[in-house]
Amino acid sequence: MSNEEQPKSGFNLFWIYGIIFLFIILSFLFLPERKNGDEISYDKFANELVANNLVKKVNIVNEKLIEVFLNQEGQKLLPAEKKNKTELFGSVYPDYTFKIISGEKFEEFLIQKRIPYEIVERTDYFGSFVSLMLPIAILILISLFFMRRIGASMGGGQIFNIGKSKATLFDEENKINVNFSNVAGLEEAKQEVMEVVEFLKNPKKFTKLGGKMPKGVLLVGPPGTGKTLLAKAVAGEAGVPFFSLSGSDFVEMFVGVGAARVRDLFKTAKEKAPCIIFIDEIDAIGRQRGRGNFTGGNDERENTLNQLLVEMDGFNTDSGVIIMAATNRADILDPALLRPGRFDRQISVDRPELKEREAIFKVHIAKITVSEDVDIAKLAAQTPGFVGADIANVCNEAALIASRKDKDKVSMEDFMQAIDRVLLGLEKKSRVIHPEEKETIAYHEAGHCIAGWYLKYGSPLVKVTIIPRGTALGYALYQPEERIITPYHKLIDEMCVSLAGRAAEEIVFNEISTGALDDLQKVTQKAYAMVSYFGMNEKVGNVSFYDPHSDMALTKPYSDQTAKLIDDEVRKLIDYAYNRVKALLIEKRQQLETIAKALLEKEVLLQSDVENLIGPRLFPTAFAS
Ligand code: ADP
Ligand code: ZN
Repeated sequence: MSNEEQPKSGFNLFWIYGIIFLFIILSFLFLPERKNGDEISYDKFANELVANNLVKKVNIVNEKLIEVFLNQEGQKLLPAEKKNKTELFGSVYPDYTFKIISGEKFEEFLIQKRIPYEIVERTDYFGSFVSLMLPIAILILISLFFMRRIGASMGGGQIFNIGKSKATLFDEENKINVNFSNVAGLEEAKQEVMEVVEFLKNPKKFTKLGGKMPKGVLLVGPPGTGKTLLAKAVAGEAGVPFFSLSGSDFVEMFVGVGAARVRDLFKTAKEKAPCIIFIDEIDAIGRQRGRGNFTGGNDERENTLNQLLVEMDGFNTDSGVIIMAATNRADILDPALLRPGRFDRQISVDRPELKEREAIFKVHIAKITVSEDVDIAKLAAQTPGFVGADIANVCNEAALIASRKDKDKVSMEDFMQAIDRVLLGLEKKSRVIHPEEKETIAYHEAGHCIAGWYLKYGSPLVKVTIIPRGTALGYALYQPEERIITPYHKLIDEMCVSLAGRAAEEIVFNEISTGALDDLQKVTQKAYAMVSYFGMNEKVGNVSFYDPHSDMALTKPYSDQTAKLIDDEVRKLIDYAYNRVKALLIEKRQQLETIAKALLEKEVLLQSDVENLIGPRLFPTAFAS
């Protein structure tokens, strides 16, 4: 149902230019050379014309060619059709020409016969023009040919339509049959985009009250979590056209193409307003500018980005165009994109947790015939880390497996096989979790959660989950605190919270894992900063070796002795924090178990859940003063 914008006509103005150009070149090449009078032999010249005194004058051109002009007598003897000399730009064409070998000898002859002559240096403009233009013309023809080929391979078909946006348009003719009921889970995200739907349905109502709609909504989340689906559902709910394209469509090898496409896209969109423009993978153009700018491709990308910014600033929401974009890396986007009036609304679309996966399974299973033994809750439990696209894939695979077995219903067994198959594919991408890993991760995250809960300076917990995100296998999300200075004890407590994951693993399984990499990095950095930057170590003293401009690895502003001291003190500090949090977790072992088991069961715990399980935090506001 995609509707690639086809070029209006194949016969473009540019082609006409090309053909004219070609014609000129060819006519120069193949037209007979301008005849400067009939060629005669030297004999005829000397013995007939000169002897009978018929020559008025001659031109010696470039010492090679003789042009003979006859006098009136001579003219009379010419054949009739040659008599009327054409005068082009005032120049008279000679009546006869012939070639000679030596100009000097011939001059002597002329002087002797008293024939007036003129020595003429004539550049062969025409010849040099052709020899200059021919290679250029050939080059142009070749490149035209290749650009056409490239244009065709890019799906655009026509090189001259390259500046046209390649957006797929869904409008009245290409109805979007997606609405919110097709999007399972993502309740928070749906809530947030609801406002956009309301606006698109009735823009007047909003603007009348002076309300300002966001121009851009950025959906942030890993691939396959349903960002495109959500954007489409917004358009479907509001019943407006939907332009869909990918950020990489803008990035071409030709200069200026990206910017031209952006312009074209916005122009078309404004004609169809109210509507939604959806740009998938916006990071392809929206990456931060001026970084590692070594290749020309970057310049081109920057031009495209600039054009996008210009277009976004250039219209107001009265025009009814709302831009939705998707990325899984909001952090690498250019800050200019996130400024007010651009993508100022960010909605996170996370990997689905248990309940959400169940809902997604329901949506997709509704499309296939399943037997009664299919247990959706169990399927959801079996697929931690799967995103919506993976689940859609599982359902599709299951149906295929069943049909291969000639069954008329898809059974639980088929689903389990399908999960295995999809898992195999996903394993390479290393973001699925096996049951035993899930347990380790649950205790690890429970450790973080418990430490933060019982340490005085732990940050307020928002949620703790064992759904992977980015490189993290699970995470505890804390409410960021805006503070300018951090006291020593807060830093220590933070280190303890970071180390709690590993400590929990050690306590429960008597085994540690690689899962603590991020935690350890954070702790190491913090410890070195405390000792060598913030002067927080007694032995090293109140000194700071902080120098943002120097590379510490190369030039250490202190002696080897101090270096050793710093290393030792950092180790002591980390050991202290680790032992402290380990003792805490041993003391709170029961709560640790409670949280870990709850995580295994529910995958996500919010602050309120944790409170219900182990009671309220002893230090309600972490650092009030
Ligand atoms: P993204 O744009 O985030 O990469 P898509 O929106 O393209 O992901 O999702 C791909 C497919 O996965 C969708 O077409 C849909 O079939 C399925 N899917 C993803 N998320 C959901 C969801 N929340 N509910 C139902 N189906 C989903
Ligand atoms: Zn951790």
